[in-house]
Parts: sequence; structure tokens; C-alpha cells
Amino acid sequence: MKLKSLVLDGFKSFAQKTQIEFRPGLTAIVGPNGSGKSNLVEAIRWVLGEQSAKSLRGSRMPDVIFAGSNDQAALNRAEVEITFDNSDHFLAVDTDEVAITRRLFRDGTSEFLLNQKFVRLKDITDLLMDTGLGKDSFSLISQGKVEQVFNSKPEERRQFIEEAAGILKYKKERLDAQSKMAETDDHLLRVADIVSELA
Ligand code: ATP
Repeated sequence: MKLKSLVLDGFKSFAQKTQIEFRPGLTAIVGPNGSGKSNLVEAIRWVLGEQSAKSLRGSRMPDVIFAGSNDQAALNRAEVEITFDNSDHFLAVDTDEVAITRRLFRDGTSEFLLNQKFVRLKDITDLLMDTGLGKDSFSLISQGKVEQVFNSKPEERRQFIEEAAGILKYKKERLDAQSKMAETDDHLLRVADIVSELA
């Protein structure tokens, strides 16, 4: 699985639709201070499901929408699309290319698409869990992240290791199963109540 392209449209300083193709080999993005290098990396984190506006250097999620400049008015929508070469079928989707799109409107409405079809954030999170692209993975190391790992509490550090080891998915499945069992226990209690009322 390889990163193929990234399209930004109205995301932070990228008011105009901008497409970046990642060719085989190493890609370096260079530019003067404030030219948007970190915004690009944040766009990748955002389209992969980042839910914390603070970790994208904002206070609310709509802060990622282009806020206007001297020569251009603010926009009402941010959109980012990331495309992976999935010919090795590393991502559990039956296509050779996987495109994930995220849109956010100023009124807070947000949309996720997987290969141009509407999906829920949960579908994206589940797809990426334990692939190394998940929220707490080391695929993206932003400024300050190294210190954050060194300074993190043991429980937080454990999360990084669990993501790298690929066991988060199973932990989540266990939690889902436990909550279903608790729900079933509740139902059984209700049935027992009804049976005793009828007896
Ligand atoms: P450095 O080399 O200093 O780290 P950089 O190239 O990483 O800089 P970024 O931090 O990605 O630059 O970009 C910062 C610029 O993005 C600032 O000029 C800021 O005003 C602009 N910016 C951030 N959010 C928005 C937004 N919502 N709308 C318009 N511009 C924005």
C-alpha cells in the first residue's frame, strides 16, 4: 500500500484546489516559513479521521476551513481526498485504489466518502485500525510528537505500542462483545420480570 495523491480544496491555507502526486521514492516538501508545509501534514491526519481540532492547531473543527486572505474571501467548505495504491490489498477494500474523502461545511456538517461512496467516520476508523495509519500510529510524526512520547504516561505509551503491534482491533472487538453481553443480560432480566409477572 502506497500513498498516491493528496487533493486539498479549501483546507487551511489551500484556498485553491491543489493536487499533490507522490511518485515512487522519497518526497520532500520544502517552502518558506508559513507556506503551508505543516498544513499539508495536518490535511493527511484530518482526512484519516482526526477528531481533535486542538491537535490541528485550531480551537474548533471549522478552523480548518480557509478563513480568507487579503485577496480572497473565506470559504464555506474544506475538502481533502487521499488516494492509496492498494494493489497489494493491504487495506481491506476490494479495489486496487482506495480514496478517502472528508468534507466539512461551516455549519459543522461533515461527510466522509470511501471510494466516492458516503460512509461513516467509524467505517474509516475501522478500516485504518491496526494498519499503521490509525490515530495514534507513528506514520505521521508531527513537531513535538517525539517529546510527547517521551513525556507520556505509561498508559499512553502503551497505546502507541498496541497500535504498532496491531492489537487495538481485537481490544475494540472485545469491548463491543462485552457491551452486547451486558445488553443481553438486561434483556434476560426483563424477560425474567415478565415471566414472573405472568406466573
Ligand atoms: P513553518 O516552516 O514555519 O513550520 P509551514 O510551512 O509549516 O511553516 P504552516 O504552519 O503549515 O506553514 O502554515 C501556516 C499558515 O497557514 C499561516 O499563514 C496561517 O495563517 C495559514 N492558515 C492556517 N489556517 C488557516 C485557515 N483556516 N485559513 C487560511 N489560512 C490559514
